Amino acid sequence: MIIIMNSETTDEQIAGVVNKLKEFGLESNVSRGIERTVIGAIGDETKADKELLQALSGVEDVIRVMKPYKIVARSYHKEDTVIDIGGVKLGGKQIQVIGGPCSVETQTQMDAAAEGVAAAGCRLMRGGAFKPRTSPYSFQGTGVEGLEMFRKAASKSNLPIVTELMDVRMLDTFLEHDVDVIQIGTRNMQNFDLLKEVGRTHKPVILKRGMSATISEWLMAAEYIAAGGNHNIIFCERGVRSFETYYRNMLDVTAIPVLKKETHLPVIVDPSHAGGKAWMVPALARAAVAAGADGLLVEMHPTPCEAWCDADQALDPQELKVLMGQLGGIAQAIGRSI
Ligand code: PEP
Ligand code: MN
Repeated sequence: MIIIMNSETTDEQIAGVVNKLKEFGLESNVSRGIERTVIGAIGDETKADKELLQALSGVEDVIRVMKPYKIVARSYHKEDTVIDIGGVKLGGKQIQVIGGPCSVETQTQMDAAAEGVAAAGCRLMRGGAFKPRTSPYSFQGTGVEGLEMFRKAASKSNLPIVTELMDVRMLDTFLEHDVDVIQIGTRNMQNFDLLKEVGRTHKPVILKRGMSATISEWLMAAEYIAAGGNHNIIFCERGVRSFETYYRNMLDVTAIPVLKKETHLPVIVDPSHAGGKAWMVPALARAAVAAGADGLLVEMHPTPCEAWCDADQALDPQELKVLMGQLGGIAQAIGRSI
């Protein structure tokens, strides 16, 4: 940690900072320049309260040197972490595409969706039984019954299932229904109590980026899960809010290489909720794979125009299959497979 004093700092103010650092168990290294005096804090800076130091008289700025996250950081674990989801490996050389509808509707719809997902060559399936809708009057999901329909449909095609958990009170039900991957949606990225609870399980967790979250906040949210003992975390970029109104969210492709540098955990991309229109999905999916994503989360519905939720952005089974073929070419060009 580095404390920069303002230009007219006095010896008394410097002593005040040194004493405060001592209270935090840190040593000081005072460096007096012509323009500025800079104090280097030596020791475990996590013990120091940045805001408290910032409030001391004569202090202009306090800069942390250490990253505020540990377990999820690349420095903690140099190699890429590969997560095993019922035998399907995510985070390795092979790119995984998770396909399926926005929401679980009926058994017939889920059976057809599972067949389409498997026929396209995807090894994992998505579907929301509990839906976070902007309006309380919109369809809220089929709930526990939806989980049952999902499990039944996916089992026939041997597909592990990914579904969103919104309420901590449903966690046991998710575990009883043997949900393979728990999805934490954009609206809950900083629901810290929910993160702590999934951190106590060993289930893989897809942590979607909050719609206005910085990468640092996202990494810290993941650290909440990791701190509880669950290191099976998958980051999912799904677009952030911007000034643009043409599309739903702005896909932050830059976040992919940044995360690959900052964390050892897998990074996937949801092109469906970014674009918000089915015709945009293939282009965004291709960009994500080219930029180094370890996987994709793609909405596909057997009959998109009949979807109960996000009909406009769902691919149909044939479109998903075509997309898989295109992604195969890109994967090969960058030394990966699909
Ligand atoms: C979803 O994947 O179904 C979903 C609601 O996504 P997000 O949380 O990114 O809006
Ligand atoms: Mn959706």
